[in-house]
Amino acid sequence: MSQTTTPPAPDDPQSPPQATPRSHSSQPRRARAHPSRPGHVGTSGQNQLNPIFAREGEATDFPQNTLPDGESLPETAYQIVHDEAMLDGNSRLNLATFVGTWMDEQATRLYAETVDKNMVDKDEYPQTAAIETRCWKMLSKLWNAPDPDNSIGTSTIGSSEACMLGGLALKRRWQQARRAAGKSTERPNLVLSSAVQVCWEKFCNYWDVEPRYVPITDEHKVLDGHDLASYVDENTIGVVAIMGVTYTGMYEPVALIAAALDRIQAETGLDVPIHVDGASGGMIAPFLQPELVWDFRLERVASISTSAHKYGLVYPGLGWVIWRTVDDLPSDLIFDVTYLGGHMPSFALNFSRPGAQVLLQYYLFLRLGWDGYYKVQKASHDVAVYLAGEIGAMRAFDLWNDGTDIPVFAWQLAKGHTENWNLYHLSERLRLKGWLIPAYPMPDNLTDVVVQRIVVRNGLSLNLAESLMVDIREAVDYLDRLESPMPTEGMVSSFTH
Ligand SMILES: *Cc1c(COP(=O)(O)O)cnc(C)c1O
Repeated sequence: MSQTTTPPAPDDPQSPPQATPRSHSSQPRRARAHPSRPGHVGTSGQNQLNPIFAREGEATDFPQNTLPDGESLPETAYQIVHDEAMLDGNSRLNLATFVGTWMDEQATRLYAETVDKNMVDKDEYPQTAAIETRCWKMLSKLWNAPDPDNSIGTSTIGSSEACMLGGLALKRRWQQARRAAGKSTERPNLVLSSAVQVCWEKFCNYWDVEPRYVPITDEHKVLDGHDLASYVDENTIGVVAIMGVTYTGMYEPVALIAAALDRIQAETGLDVPIHVDGASGGMIAPFLQPELVWDFRLERVASISTSAHKYGLVYPGLGWVIWRTVDDLPSDLIFDVTYLGGHMPSFALNFSRPGAQVLLQYYLFLRLGWDGYYKVQKASHDVAVYLAGEIGAMRAFDLWNDGTDIPVFAWQLAKGHTENWNLYHLSERLRLKGWLIPAYPMPDNLTDVVVQRIVVRNGLSLNLAESLMVDIREAVDYLDRLESPMPTEGMVSSFTH
């Protein structure tokens, strides 16, 4: 090699020493011929090989809101997107979400192998379609359908779509019954807790159903059947019962709600069905509280939905909804799609949608079985109960609930503890350590109550939980030693359920 080297190209400061112009005559000159676009395809090999973070796009700005004029090297584009994704939080430290953020290596491999599958294309992917059916049949048995072969279900993109479908079936069944009786179908209503997840507000808004919110109070922390008769009337399409209220993680006593509706039927003749929103609890209760009667064992329960990407342990987005019998899902809502030259019923809001998650769910059903799901959920439960115990024992806090339903619990600042800080400040302090633990007001009627909530998911080990407690104690200690109040100006809860 010659001792003389050409200086690095001006736009490529990290480029290693080049060979002499004589031995590689065209390279440096070509690079200089396109000084402003060295990262783009078609420029010299030097720039494709040269160090990351010095190519155009990496060293300069990509336009963010307009389509770039030219192409980029895949490595460049990859690096840019990879680095931007890095600015998101560390999902493992996100104790705000219910959504799965970890799967094992085989699942990840399976995911990569099956990303191309389209759930709607039952003709091209008949095996994925068959596996979808196996999955909801397993769930139908898990949720104690009286005759799983006579139940009907589907995968969805998540609980939101599953709840929409459940709600639509309620509405259509009510319309049909009303029409058959020669009565008006103009003013359908749905009875639900004021602490429902936002998807139910969407359902009511998008499909013109009046929501009748039963407020939660200190006395009635969840919808429990109390005073139900003053909300239900002939226009009620159904009642939503939540297994695992998003705000707190508490179960609504579905059996009590069903009993209240039985009494209403005895008095008024109104036969009002229940949809159970089991977004999280649908995959916890069968394993951790098998004796709790909340599912199809209650005759009034017409349909149940769950998020497979919550405690179903699958990556987002997958949900399930199942109807007790085929008669609970009006057939005029079902569309036929061709399937191996035959027909396959389809009830969905989306057309194309990824099929890989369905295979991941099946993988987990095979891999974990009942025992495995029990162990995973029990481990999360143990961590939730541990954390609730530790936090509840702190002078600064009062627990709202203790994490013994789903592994989720919320707490309040103890009355009279301090005027200097609140739970939003604690949330911010914990954010400094990477933990995402939201504080937010409770729904209508209780908006003066601010709680903070932890969702324990698979992957938050006891050791991590102990580290979290160290950070919480440290943060509280810091806040308690303040000599004057933390500023509250501009403080808003950005958290949504
Ligand atoms: C999360 C949640 C939903 C919405 O579920 P997605 O799968 O995120 O669409 C609905 N209901 C309850 C009770 C939830 O916790």
